[in-house]
Amino acid sequence: MPNVQAVFIGSEIYRKSSYGPWHPLRVPRVSTVMDLARALGWLPREQYAVSPRARPAALTSWHRPDYIAALQRVETTQVATEEDRARYGLGTPSNPAFPEVYRRPATAAGGSLLAGEMLAEGGVVYHPAGGTHHGLPGRASGFCYLNDPVLGILSLRRMGVRRIAYVDIDAHHPDGVELAFDGDPEIRMISVHEERRWPFTGALGDCAGGSAVNLPVPRGLNDTEMLWIREALILPLVDAFAPDAVVLQCGADAVEEDPLSRLSLSNNAHWEIVASLRPLAPRYLVLGGGGYNPWSVGRLWTGVWALLSGREIPDRLPAEGQAVLRALRWQGNRRGKSPPEHWFDTLRDTPRPGPLRDEIRDRVAYLRRREGLR
Ligand SMILES: [Zn+2]
Repeated sequence: MPNVQAVFIGSEIYRKSSYGPWHPLRVPRVSTVMDLARALGWLPREQYAVSPRARPAALTSWHRPDYIAALQRVETTQVATEEDRARYGLGTPSNPAFPEVYRRPATAAGGSLLAGEMLAEGGVVYHPAGGTHHGLPGRASGFCYLNDPVLGILSLRRMGVRRIAYVDIDAHHPDGVELAFDGDPEIRMISVHEERRWPFTGALGDCAGGSAVNLPVPRGLNDTEMLWIREALILPLVDAFAPDAVVLQCGADAVEEDPLSRLSLSNNAHWEIVASLRPLAPRYLVLGGGGYNPWSVGRLWTGVWALLSGREIPDRLPAEGQAVLRALRWQGNRRGKSPPEHWFDTLRDTPRPGPLRDEIRDRVAYLRRREGLR
């Protein structure tokens, strides 16, 4: 690992932007991480980069020009027509026409494009606004308008980085990323996601032309099981691939308190994966992703930055840090009414160990055999 400081890519655009009062993405996320990291003294100017907004021409390295034009038009007019809904998935309940409907995703895309350039010679970049893994070439999908992980991987490639391992621990399967790199021998995609959950892709037997390893997991996935998955599957697969870069989509929706999935991890599981992937390649890009409980996301992703930037996570947050978490609101969710005290005064969850279920052991064993691991 080259001895360079990790860089955090952020933007103020995420602070007041909302998908609307009923949407899961009505909650602040990236701004919480920035505020908390600054309150703890973890985000000095030299480690912070402002995310540029990607130009349309940069987006069409993967997205269709007519779709990008429609996205820009819907932002300008704030009206999605019936055709926009049918053809582009714009103006739907999951992908509404909100005020920054082009600028916000274009900024997240710009961050991942910039990350690829910054990592040309090696290093560590954290871009928590990234991770929109459901975006399709000509269509918005699953809260994602663009696909910044795909654009970030293509950006790395333009810098001459060849072998890239993409690991995705979001509760949902990264269907857009898998579509982009289906059959690509220089991309290794590994996803752990909840079975029988939208978008219903990523079955155990689906290997995307040999480029992907998919592990669907049952409800209630616990820390013990994720540790097993990490040691028996994720790390050996990435190590065997010998990547020039690792891209981790570190969605925060597989934790117990998330409202959109039924997995039961603590944030320790995520942090252990973040830390253990780092030595496996000279370039490391960590993205955000899902995560709809504002406290869970803020605490988990701030802890990711602590790990990447070499800061120690305190047992109890100082008052300045607690103030950021105490100021959060989660309207319209019962868990927002009386949040437990540890959502305010800690970053680290209590670990959630549990039994290692046979179906997980069996699926991992199947994938290990199929992928030739011994
Ligand atoms: Zn998700």
